[in-house]
Amino acid sequence: MKSNSLVTKRVNKRKQALSFEKMGLSDEMVAKLYEVGYEKPTPVQAGLIPLAMEEFDLIGQSQTGTGKTAAFGIPILEQLELDPQHAATQALILTPTRELAVQVEREITKLAPNHHVRCCCLYGGRPIKTQINQLKKGCHIVVGTPGRVLDHLQRRTLNINKLWFVVLDEADRMLDIGFRPDIEKIMRQCPTPRQTMLLSATLPPPIVLLAKRYMHYPKLLNFSSKIAVETIDQKYLTVPYEMKYDILVELLEREQPEQSIIFCRTKLGTERLYRKLLKTTDFDSIGTIHGDMTQSARDRMMKGFREQSVRFLVATDVVGRGIDVSNISHIINYDVPELSDDYVHRVGRTGRMGRSGIAFTLVTPDQGGELTRIEQRINQLLEVDELQGKINEARGKEIDARPSARTSKKRYRRAL
Ligand code: AMP
Repeated sequence: MKSNSLVTKRVNKRKQALSFEKMGLSDEMVAKLYEVGYEKPTPVQAGLIPLAMEEFDLIGQSQTGTGKTAAFGIPILEQLELDPQHAATQALILTPTRELAVQVEREITKLAPNHHVRCCCLYGGRPIKTQINQLKKGCHIVVGTPGRVLDHLQRRTLNINKLWFVVLDEADRMLDIGFRPDIEKIMRQCPTPRQTMLLSATLPPPIVLLAKRYMHYPKLLNFSSKIAVETIDQKYLTVPYEMKYDILVELLEREQPEQSIIFCRTKLGTERLYRKLLKTTDFDSIGTIHGDMTQSARDRMMKGFREQSVRFLVATDVVGRGIDVSNISHIINYDVPELSDDYVHRVGRTGRMGRSGIAFTLVTPDQGGELTRIEQRINQLLEVDELQGKINEARGKEIDARPSARTSKKRYRRAL
């Protein structure tokens, strides 16, 4: 592992133009990338891969949907020592959710040029015995959620003596969920020297602290110059609570999304909205996903959504985050997210890899402050959707979600 002082970089255009051939990758890897249709690296990949190949510890500030899985997956695959007889675990990737763990495992398996690479997924809600058997056979790369990974470490069913790579994916989200004690316990057990990579959309002080404690002179690369993806239209509607459901249905009827995620704040709210849509509309293929469902039901639902047999997915943030399905044309924030970072993540489910998308946020008249916080976070004002006229008419008056237009503008200017 190389030592270096903390360097902050905003990745420049020259780096973005780099090709896979010029990154010091093996011929097999480059061939595999072309085979799966990756013609050129995304900016995150162009920035991270060459440094990761030089064995630096790295912090990448980036959103999902930017190709970050391959950005850490490719250097891992390139540096694995493959011994099919005894597959020692050499890489540990921690993710905040089960769905993201599955997605990361799938992406890495897809990119592996050598079919001897063994990758396995450890997360709760699945029988631990099956995972133990898998670990016994040997896994070069382990992807998992912190709770279950720690469980395996404590049972000594996961051996990390030969670990070289540790990745903390969506580190900010893992801390939001409350995984910090588990992550710290895991990191304390990871051997040194090693190479650690941390990916996070934001870098709040607890993340910086985590990096200071467990990383070795990391280089910091910032890919987040534009917080919300440029290709996403972002609109809002000020809707009294009692009208929210009807407006949602009208919006869906008008927009006819190819595929859509409808985000709610709570598990109960998600389930209720899902049932109401099933009962009162004739929309085809509605599904739901939230933390109260069994893991197999969640897996089935994700599969259906990926295969497009589910068109409208009513979801909570925890499971909605990280979903990488390219046909999502619409994000509907039925409930304003509790944290403005969650807004960025929800909206990032559409407009993947440069495709266009649209996001609507339903704001109740008392949520003006929350709307302003989102706008400050994304450095951009949301547009009012034309349906607002109809809502105002039904109410017999104009409603403005903002506490006061003037205050809001002033606050927004300060944010810029
Ligand atoms: P991620 O940000 O890792 O969730 O990746 C988002 C999507 O982009 C996934 O479907 C990847 O397979 C795809 N992807 C990643 N890198 C590239 C690339 N260089 N060219 C084309 N697609 C890519």
